[in-house]
Amino acid sequence: MLYADLAARFEELEATGSRLEMASILSDFFKGMDARDIRSVVYLSQGKLRPDFHGVELGMSDRLVLRSISSAAGVPLGKTEKLWIELGDPGLVAERLIAVKKQTTLFSEPLTLARVIRNLEAIESADGRDSQTKKTKLLAQLLHDSSPVEARFLCRIVTGRMRVGAGAMTILDALAEAFAGKEDRPLIERGYNITCDLGLIAETLATEGLEGVESIKVAVGSPLKVMLAERLPSVEQILERMGGRCAMEYKYDGIRVQAHISAGEVRLYSRRLEDLTSNFPDVAAALAAGCRVKDAIIEGECVAVDRDTGAMLPFQTVTHRRKKHGMEQAVRDIPVRIFMFDMVYADGEDLTARPYEERRRALAESFEIGGQVELTKMRVVGSVEEGLAFFNEALEDKCEGIMAKSLAEDSVYRAGSRGFLWVKYKRDYESALTDSFDLAVVGAFFGMGKRTGGYGALLMASFDEDTGMFCTVCKLGTGFDDGFLAGMPALLDDGLSETRPRSVDAKMTPDVWFEPTVVLEVVAAEISKSPVHTAASALTGDGSGLGLRFPRFTGRVRDDKEPDQCTSVQEIHGMYLLQDRGGSETGE
Ligand code: ATP
Repeated sequence: MLYADLAARFEELEATGSRLEMASILSDFFKGMDARDIRSVVYLSQGKLRPDFHGVELGMSDRLVLRSISSAAGVPLGKTEKLWIELGDPGLVAERLIAVKKQTTLFSEPLTLARVIRNLEAIESADGRDSQTKKTKLLAQLLHDSSPVEARFLCRIVTGRMRVGAGAMTILDALAEAFAGKEDRPLIERGYNITCDLGLIAETLATEGLEGVESIKVAVGSPLKVMLAERLPSVEQILERMGGRCAMEYKYDGIRVQAHISAGEVRLYSRRLEDLTSNFPDVAAALAAGCRVKDAIIEGECVAVDRDTGAMLPFQTVTHRRKKHGMEQAVRDIPVRIFMFDMVYADGEDLTARPYEERRRALAESFEIGGQVELTKMRVVGSVEEGLAFFNEALEDKCEGIMAKSLAEDSVYRAGSRGFLWVKYKRDYESALTDSFDLAVVGAFFGMGKRTGGYGALLMASFDEDTGMFCTVCKLGTGFDDGFLAGMPALLDDGLSETRPRSVDAKMTPDVWFEPTVVLEVVAAEISKSPVHTAASALTGDGSGLGLRFPRFTGRVRDDKEPDQCTSVQEIHGMYLLQDRGGSETGE
């Protein structure tokens, strides 16, 4: 395949805002291509060379890319840098300068997809003292033979700016359209949810059809999308929903990890698929030592504990284990335990379709419990009194609340879905009306008064699972301490966007826009209809959106969540229906 074909599709995708149209562009493209190319095409359309959990990045800085552009276009670096300051995006710089060069150059070899992949892989693996020079050369070779549009996308891929708007859900739609039927979409999505590898699903569909995807199994080394919980406002409602009896577990306030164990080797993944093994080497070693089966995938919550008393410490303590630097010291200073709550694979067997009690039994039997490896505290309850007593014990033991889990036969592990088989009930629900919200930052307003010179407030959005858009729900200006205010540009500015990002649905216009990348935890007094926010406008019945009243930042940056894992529009709408309706409107 010629890379020009792919770049032309990227351009078409970029030009449309409609998810349906994107899916149709992609499906036509998929149908017409050699099945051997589809895997790379899918990764590249997301700006990657392989799935996220491999944790490798092309990692070229803007300045390095400018050097490649200068060399390929035969333009002095000073001029390239000046244009970069003006345009902000090395992709646009490359497009402009390569266009000028093309008018004067006669010979260049057409770029094939295979050649692009080869050079990108070499860029990815370049290391050593002269790695920067190597990377610059490899990219310059590609740019030399690129058309202006090809150059634009190449530079976006290597700098991590590839955002043509085709998210995972759109690609799954396109795959269903190209190789199966709409009705097969859930099966294809299931394949994705248990592998987190869109390229693999695309290639399997293209070469083996739906049957191939159906036979994909959970595998050690390939993380699953995590199962998530719904929320209900009382123990009574939880029991009612679960048929009068359920298992309750403590809801620990730590960092969720998925451990993949194979012949004594352990890898730990976060819920956004980062490899956390080096952050919790002690937990990995304890799991390896305590595991009685050969292969396993389990999930648990890593919680910091007091060295002397073993008491659980607040969430902030365990976040020191997520730092990039000083990890050895943090491992020494902050003892951590893993509280395991699920087992989805054991010795060659996929347990995801087994009911909760069976999985729990398998988990208990597969590990030596003690030291750093614990099971979540669990009790089967059959009355509101028993449920409340367990909830109070959880709070006394410094947990956030409880997780109720269905004991029904169909209480399977649903990778990637949020449902009522698990229901959370937290301390906050007793005093405030709702849960906290995890929201993506999509814009900022310049500060005034004490905040002049920095950002004063942020425009926050939730994710619409039906449309793939980020819809605004509040303007957030409360709960920031001085340290956070000062650090805001460093936290947010990587995502700066000249115009409203294509994935953002907003009526308000902030002073600056951000691509949704950073997720913050927010509490609010109420959810109400709003004329200025866009969340849930398709669900409220009268076209108005939903907004949060008196939102406040809790101080918690949810760097364990991808932006599309933030609280969804659908969840906010569900919470809105649950709360007592006061009827007031959110004006901002
Ligand atoms: P929250 O912000 O409330 O943790 P979330 O969106 O991260 O919510 P939910 O599915 O709503 O995820 O809540 C479940 C989370 O609670 C899990 O992701 C996990 O990190 C944590 N957790 C703590 N204890 C348990 C438990 N016993 N069983 C399952 N999850 C637990």
